[in-house]
This record gives sequence, C-alpha cells and structure tokens, in this order.
Amino acid sequence: MKLLSILLVLLACNQPSTSSNTTTAASSSTTETLAVHDSIVPPAYDNGKLIKINKSEEEWKNQLSEMAFHVLRKEGTERAFTGKLWDNHQKGTYVCAGCGLPLFSSETKFDSGTGWPSFYQPITKDCIADFEDNSHGMDRTEVECARCGGHQGHVFPDGPPPTGMRYCINSVSLNFVKQ
Ligand SMILES: [Zn+2]
Repeated sequence: MKLLSILLVLLACNQPSTSSNTTTAASSSTTETLAVHDSIVPPAYDNGKLIKINKSEEEWKNQLSEMAFHVLRKEGTERAFTGKLWDNHQKGTYVCAGCGLPLFSSETKFDSGTGWPSFYQPITKDCIADFEDNSHGMDRTEVECARCGGHQGHVFPDGPPPTGMRYCINSVSLNFVKQ
C-alpha cells in the first residue's frame, strides 16, 4: 500500500514535466498553436529584422475562431461594445490573438468611448505595421500585427497625450495576459 502511494506521488510529480515535454516536441501541432495565442510569444529577430509568421488560409482557419478569422485574416470589424476587452482595466499585456506578439500595454490603454479597446501607442514601434486603407469610402490607416499580418484595427490622429494617436483595436484580435 505504501509503495502504491509512493508510486502515485511520483506519477503526479512527473505529470507537469511530461506534458510540457510533449508540448515542446509537438511544436507544429494544432494543440500547440491554440495554446500559443493567449500567452506572450516574444519576437525573434534575424539580422535585426523581425522574423515573420506565414501561414496558409487553411492553417489560420484551423487555429482561429470564426470571428477571429473574420477580423484577423479578412479585415473584419467586431461590433462596438461586444468584445471582451474594451472595458478591461486590469494591468497586463495585450498580445496578438494570431501569434502572441506583445502589441499593447495596459499602461497606454484609455477609455475612448468607442466600444473598442483603445491605446495611444503600441509597445514598440516595430510590432505594428500600418497601411493606408481607403475602403468603405473612408481615408483611414489600418494597423496589423507586424509578425503574422493579422488585422488589428485602425489608428486615428485624435487620441490623448502624449502621442495624440488612437489605436482603435478589435478585442477579438487581442488576447490579454494579466501582469
Ligand atoms: Zn500576430
């Protein structure tokens, strides 16, 4: 009986390391991809250039929820006041829901009244890529995750100090990692 309990304890102790080994080994499996997007996956650089992530439409479809796919990969927009993060006031880091790249800090989040998470600046200059967007008859600047190209939202020049910019981001494009 005593031997059995020792064995059970040993098994219990082994479990976490066994599962983390499995996760590392199966780095390309769907399970791993799903686990990645709600935690911080720091940027990696090659000769000073951010190493990008290129996945097929099929791979993104398998990894993301229908809504996240629509917004991140098809430049959709979630309805205002419906997302999980517009009213989040906790301290932490907002990462790309597609690849886990840290994009925004709670330090720069502000209440814009728009119903979308709003920030006055990204964590670093090179984590966000911006593009002119003249669709829907509007003259806007689209912002994307610089690593996976996932659509985040738009940036407008009507934000608060110190930058005067308003990064208007879809909740579904982000995941929040509490500090
Ligand atoms: Zn990304």
